[in-house]
Amino acid sequence: MDVLTGRTQAELEELLGPSSGPAPLPPYRAAQIFRWISRGARSFEAMTDLPRELRAALGERFSLSSVEAAARLREPGDETEKLTLRLRDGLGIEAVLLSDGAGRKTACLSSQAGCPMGCVFCKTGSLGFRRNLEAAEIVEQFLRLRDGPGDAPRDISRIVVMGMGEPLLNLGELRQALAVLTSPGGCGISKRHITISTCGMAEGIRDLAEHGPRVGLALSLTTADEALRRRLMPVSAAHPLTELKKALRYYQAREGRRITLEMVLLEGINTRKADAEALEDFVRGLETVVNLIPWNAVEGLSFERAPLRSPGSGELAAFTGELARRGIKATMRRRKGSRIGGACGQLAGDLGTGSYSLQSAGRIATPPKRS
Ligand code: SAH
Ligand code: SF4
Repeated sequence: MDVLTGRTQAELEELLGPSSGPAPLPPYRAAQIFRWISRGARSFEAMTDLPRELRAALGERFSLSSVEAAARLREPGDETEKLTLRLRDGLGIEAVLLSDGAGRKTACLSSQAGCPMGCVFCKTGSLGFRRNLEAAEIVEQFLRLRDGPGDAPRDISRIVVMGMGEPLLNLGELRQALAVLTSPGGCGISKRHITISTCGMAEGIRDLAEHGPRVGLALSLTTADEALRRRLMPVSAAHPLTELKKALRYYQAREGRRITLEMVLLEGINTRKADAEALEDFVRGLETVVNLIPWNAVEGLSFERAPLRSPGSGELAAFTGELARRGIKATMRRRKGSRIGGACGQLAGDLGTGSYSLQSAGRIATPPKRS
């Protein structure tokens, strides 16, 4: 059955109107349906301003959902929530709801099931790549994250595409999903409140600069030391830093927006003076803010046979001091959601055979106590 979620209002008008055969619907009906979907309606029955016969007819031809069920985990204390969605082909993907101190909520969405880039510090990367997500599967992450414990959807005003996968390898479907999510007749998320994070696909950055959407950009730099970066992010070998910097400058000249540089910090690896020096060189000529992310633990990951670790407070202070001395603006990301495996780089879902057991769909569970 055709899924209606993930289509723009104009596409719904076309699908339900002229191209739908003997009983085309007028555009205002498509607008109503689009609004209901954007509000999170789970069935055509719930669309109470549509005639009953129309709801039944729609239900026979179309489906609203491309995900089967959901499990939720909430991090006690910081309101982070991780949602697992089961896709129609059995794969499980994850999305995260983040809350900041001011109570603003951000949806962190996945763009792929798994990831082909193989960054050594990242759980998703260690799982390999299964497939690109469809627009509907991206939109539904947002809609289902927004369902709260109560009846009314929660207010989520921001989106970061920083979940599983490399978004710029799935730019077509992501574009479509963002067109739906930013539509004023639907969820109405402002493009200024959306950020896409890439591990550094230079062509993708240019494509984004030229064809939009005009959203914020974050680059997972990790280190500006080229040789070290290649060892940590194997696929970066295809995109030397000089080429990446050119792409960023091009993007910035068009967008005028500050670019975020994300640096996951690994004990004794990328917090050296040499890393600060290389970074100083890299940011010259760019408007950037550096976002430092102390590594979130992922069991079993190592770098050239040594287990990875998060830097201690002394090492962090020394590195931030080094950046400050060089006039580099940096903020430290607060660790959130790590107990539920929902922090940066911990997302895994279930990309296996579908043996994953579904928890009570939609209900919020808290994680088992750690011993
Ligand atoms: N693939 C895209 C989008 C995912 S964003 C990208 O890499 O940019 C995920 C962010 O979390 C990236 O900045 C990545 O560097 C960071 N990250 C990955 N593994 C991590 C870990 N174990 N701890 C902290 N940050 C991690
Ligand atoms: Fe993929 Fe990003 Fe993880 Fe690297 S950090 S493996 S690009 S999801």
